[in-house]
Amino acid sequence: KPLPDLTDLPGALLASIGQRVDRIDTPSLVVDLDAMERNIQRMADFARKHGVRWRPHAKMHKSAEIALLLQRAGATGACVQKVAEAETLAAGGVNDIFISNEVVAAPKLLRVARMAAQLAARGGRLAIAVDSAEGIERLAEAMALAGSTHGIDVFVEIDVGQGRCGVPPGAPAVALALAVAHHARLRFAGLQAYHGRAQHFVSATERREAIAAAVRAAEHTRALIVAAGLPVPLVTGSGTGTLVHEAASGVYGELQAGSFLFMDADYARNEREPAQPAFEQALFVKTQVISVSDSHAVCDAGHKSHAIDSGLPTVALLPPERALRYANGGDEHGVLYADGPKARLPALGRMLWLVPGHCDPTVNLHDFLIGVRGGLAMGVVERIIRVDARGALT
Ligand code: PLP
Ligand code: MN
Repeated sequence: KPLPDLTDLPGALLASIGQRVDRIDTPSLVVDLDAMERNIQRMADFARKHGVRWRPHAKMHKSAEIALLLQRAGATGACVQKVAEAETLAAGGVNDIFISNEVVAAPKLLRVARMAAQLAARGGRLAIAVDSAEGIERLAEAMALAGSTHGIDVFVEIDVGQGRCGVPPGAPAVALALAVAHHARLRFAGLQAYHGRAQHFVSATERREAIAAAVRAAEHTRALIVAAGLPVPLVTGSGTGTLVHEAASGVYGELQAGSFLFMDADYARNEREPAQPAFEQALFVKTQVISVSDSHAVCDAGHKSHAIDSGLPTVALLPPERALRYANGGDEHGVLYADGPKARLPALGRMLWLVPGHCDPTVNLHDFLIGVRGGLAMGVVERIIRVDARGALT
């Protein structure tokens, strides 16, 4: 439920509903709601055209309100990486959740088992990924301990090139699928086949080739499992950088892309794919110039306001000849340079808009997303969205 106002929250006088955009305090995380809704529409149209489901990754927005909004637009449910994220979304009313990650700690698995029962009881479902026989045994044990009668959907993760979680495609995945099917409380739901590294290959050719290999691996593994007598209901994976390929593969039935909703400066550097929906930047850090010298200006957004693992932010909404360069000024500061011949340093007090390098960890730095309607120049604050699962790490 959107908060009516933040003025009752100590230290959070960032913005209030109906306020003009120029009054939003800084540094703050602002969502251009019109751009976000266009991104959602583009994704919904794209998925429909290709006959695939979409289950956007909530690790990016971490908000039950947004997960529900995406479901109303046609999303199947939400992906999460963490048990605590799943719990937060479930508490916020999300009913169909996939933990697209491995969980092996007994206390966490007990939480998973309880949540599976809770979601099933209200007509929803919980799914999880596994990549080891030991992990499957531990999950089955937790499900038995919780006395679950409904069971849980289990995806066997294969490593399709990322070099992170997942067993090698082929025989090792068949063995795990059969091990899952062996347990009464576990339902084999299909394959998790996500190539995370490929999302950020700048070259469109490299992305296409990486996903072609992932598709072959997933298809081959699926055929082996079917030959072993087990249906494979779904192959799931994909992200914002490669979704055109998984969607067209005929093998993947579900897209997990999350960043498409907000986008970031790193994704903006990816070479465009003609078939890719034209997702636009919807997430901005609003910042203010707090100091000016002859050589540079300083704004109040440093890397406590935005993640810098995928590069520094860019300064948005300036004509090219007036471009400003953002340089790292530490935790709380950004240093701005006017490099071009026609560029001028911004005046003291001037508000600026930054495009974060990486959206997911940037959202995780903020308690609220300030949703603006009518554009960043003249718009007004329409809703304030809580980043419910901020810091939900377990
Ligand atoms: N699926 C998994 C398993 C992920 O880890 C991620 C993000 O890292 C995604 C999907 C979504 O990718 P993106 O946010 O780049 O669209
Ligand atoms: Mn990311």
